[in-house]
Amino acid sequence: MLKLDDVGAGYGAVKALEGVSLQVEQGQMVCLLGANGAGKSTTLNCISGIVPLRGGDITLDGESIAGKSTEDIVRRGIAQVPEGRETFPEMSVADNLLLGGWIHRRQRKQLRDDLDRVYTTFPRLKEREQQHAGLLSGGEQQMLMIGRALMSRPRILLMDEPSLGLSPVLVEHLFQTIVELNRSGLTILIVEQNAQLALKVSEYGYILENGEIAFHGVSAALREDPKVHEAYLGT
Ligand code: ATP
Repeated sequence: MLKLDDVGAGYGAVKALEGVSLQVEQGQMVCLLGANGAGKSTTLNCISGIVPLRGGDITLDGESIAGKSTEDIVRRGIAQVPEGRETFPEMSVADNLLLGGWIHRRQRKQLRDDLDRVYTTFPRLKEREQQHAGLLSGGEQQMLMIGRALMSRPRILLMDEPSLGLSPVLVEHLFQTIVELNRSGLTILIVEQNAQLALKVSEYGYILENGEIAFHGVSAALREDPKVHEAYLGT
């Protein structure tokens, strides 16, 4: 479904990615792991069209999306939940969500249906619908970011460290929802610092080191791999 083929990217003189190839099949949850600065966010930003490619190609269902605008890429069904809490704090929860649906310029009724779907996934957001997003807790803001991405009705969701800064209980709760979204048919590529957890919930994993894929394989096998253990699972 989504394929990166020999992708290179960088910032000025900094080489952030080199020869990165990876694949996400329809319905899969795939994780992308690696230390700080390994190039995980850059990889997602290349897929979303935020960072231009310096080499290689990215295809969605066999068609190249390299060089396309982010708007075009969202319209094709790829939505990204960025790292951190990038909500609009002065706007209500509902308006933050509606912004995520603007791209399809849907009818009011369709937007309402999309909102209801997000509220079914995250009932807490419904309860706080009219409050300013800035008043939400960290966990609720993360739900809002995911909800906003879901409003564009993506086929593939790119998630950048959703567990960042959340307590263990909230992380567990959030990951249950992520697993449910995947089970309901949403394809997910997830970047995580929490390698143990990411390998537990995903089917396949890639590990980046200095901008290159150092390991990849079925997640269950990566969890058993002594080299992966030593470097990423802290044993
Ligand atoms: P983290 O977990 O810290 O977010 P990451 O694996 O997501 O790390 P990237 O953010 O993709 O890594 O960064 C890859 C490399 O590119 C790093 O060396 C980083 O310093 C550099 N880099 C990232 N963004 C920029 C930028 N806007 N300008 C210059 N260099 C950048």
